[in-house]
Amino acid sequence: MTGNKERFVMIFDTHAHYDDEAFDEDRDAVLSSLNEKGVGTVVNICASPDSLKRIRSLTAKYPFVYGAAGIHPDHAGELTEEMFQEISRLADEEKIVAIGEIGLDYYWDTAPHEVQRQWFLRQLDLAVEKDLPVVIHSREAAQETLEIMRAAYQQSGGTLRGVIHCFSGSAEIAKEYTDMGFYIGVGGVVTFKNGKKLKEVVETMPLDKLVIETDCPYLAPVPHRGKRNDSTLLTLVIEEIAALRGMTAEEVERLTEENARALYRL
Ligand SMILES: [Zn+2]
Repeated sequence: MTGNKERFVMIFDTHAHYDDEAFDEDRDAVLSSLNEKGVGTVVNICASPDSLKRIRSLTAKYPFVYGAAGIHPDHAGELTEEMFQEISRLADEEKIVAIGEIGLDYYWDTAPHEVQRQWFLRQLDLAVEKDLPVVIHSREAAQETLEIMRAAYQQSGGTLRGVIHCFSGSAEIAKEYTDMGFYIGVGGVVTFKNGKKLKEVVETMPLDKLVIETDCPYLAPVPHRGKRNDSTLLTLVIEEIAALRGMTAEEVERLTEENARALYRL
């Protein structure tokens, strides 16, 4: 590496769940070794009420770990006013850089749609109020999520921003989001044989809106599919994106790191 402009590029994992019980046995060993394996930054995303309680222990212990506070639609039925106030308090903390993950999940359908929608809207409003990006989860609810996001974006006067995590929609829907300035989160699914739709999104979307994510412990890329995922496996996602876009892996790593910093304002 020569020249003043060169710097050591590192992987930015925009969406991880290191508080998940899948890491109970070796959490510190995994997290402590990430930097030396080329991972520079991780945003740990809250999903359940329990992870809201645990998020601080990770962000306080590891300088490179940031957090997002929010409740996943699968847990919307457990959300209380008190919990919502806790999310609001966390949002004021320096290392909490987003509200999420929030959205709609009509696949697992663990909470009534009306309850999911209500808390989704409340948390979107909170993000606008706190001037934080949102991390959006949408499963089997692509059209309705887009409609809610479009309305919230307009209502916010164009200030609502964020990422559509583990994007699973069509290239057309991706364009609707990127036209509003939202980022598209791409992870292990892009390496799957049945990931054709996502490959098409990656091929056609604007590169300045592309970020990478593990969603670990879930969604490990091929050839680790089905096993526990972690941020070091993002090299496989980077290689796939590089092949799809005719770029080098280093270019993709640099680009997605810069995009992630812009998304979370880090
Ligand atoms: Zn997630």
